[in-house]
Amino acid sequence: MTVRIDEEKVFRIIEEKRPRVVLVNAPGGLLRQTKELMQKVREKYDVTCILAGDSCFGICDTVDEDVPRMQADLAFHIGHNATVQTVGDYTYLIDASDDVKFDGVVAKAAKTVRPYHRLGLVTFSQHMQELSRVKGQLEARGFEVQMGKGNNLLMASQVFGCDFSTVFPLRDSVDAFLFLGESEFHAVGLALATGKPTFMLDPYMEEVVDMEKAAEERRKRAVLAVYRALDARVFGVITGLKEGQKMLGRSRWISKRLEMNGRRVIQLALRDITPERLAPHREIEAFVQTACPRVSIDGFNFDRPVLSIPQADALVALMEGREIGEFLQRPKWIELTVGLTRRNQNDG
Ligand code: SF4
Repeated sequence: MTVRIDEEKVFRIIEEKRPRVVLVNAPGGLLRQTKELMQKVREKYDVTCILAGDSCFGICDTVDEDVPRMQADLAFHIGHNATVQTVGDYTYLIDASDDVKFDGVVAKAAKTVRPYHRLGLVTFSQHMQELSRVKGQLEARGFEVQMGKGNNLLMASQVFGCDFSTVFPLRDSVDAFLFLGESEFHAVGLALATGKPTFMLDPYMEEVVDMEKAAEERRKRAVLAVYRALDARVFGVITGLKEGQKMLGRSRWISKRLEMNGRRVIQLALRDITPERLAPHREIEAFVQTACPRVSIDGFNFDRPVLSIPQADALVALMEGREIGEFLQRPKWIELTVGLTRRNQNDG
């Protein structure tokens, strides 16, 4: 199995736009292939390639604003496939696909998930091309298989770690979801957001993993953090500085609601939200962060509550005497701004 970056697209853009300097960023798992691609571009076109070395976890982590700062001409953002091809003023999204096949794990899943007849099929960027083949394999074994609809950012049945909007509407018409790929991160998010039985089909280990236990653990921690934050008098409200996560409106709204409910608020802006970055702010008893929700939902190492947007909504509900309900069950945990950004030059 090999993860392959769409080099042809990169070459096409370079031949068309003739840049002198390009900025490149990619998630950690694709850095080796990305550096190989940069080498090829240098050799083939004599173009200077600069790797943006900050953390890159998702499609929200583009580096469009850094292009002029680095005196570059354009940027390539690798590995977060989407329905949009370009982002901001300078950035081209470059797909990466994994050629691993699911035949073995689908055969196992057909036995494990036999009690469920109607299945929703879901995956993330690198396995999009396997969806229709797996759908056919499951249907041939007698299952009814449903796929989600694509939208302005996600392809049909694709999810990001914070955006499940393609498959969320299937909740009432399927008995369980099957997630294709070795990514507990995405599969557990799917289980939490939909509240449905969810199985991860790992094609490498050929294992079918029931996500119930992992999802329940995170759900309980998320609820506990909300109740712990209820006792706090001083809040830090953090706006993310990453390009696709700048939720200024949400930060303002949450700050206002906290103040209306008698809390003191200190507003912060951070690129990476880590225990080390929060440590100096000792007077703050709890944080709300409107950037990546997974920082809160998967972040088990903070010494104070650090709430995501859905948790903050639950906190405000509690403060105002309302029920919190299943606050993680929603199509999106954050409104990514990536697909909404307009380009004003380099269109193509
Ligand atoms: S905000 Fe969404 S897309 Fe960005 S890293 Fe977090 S989960 Fe991934």
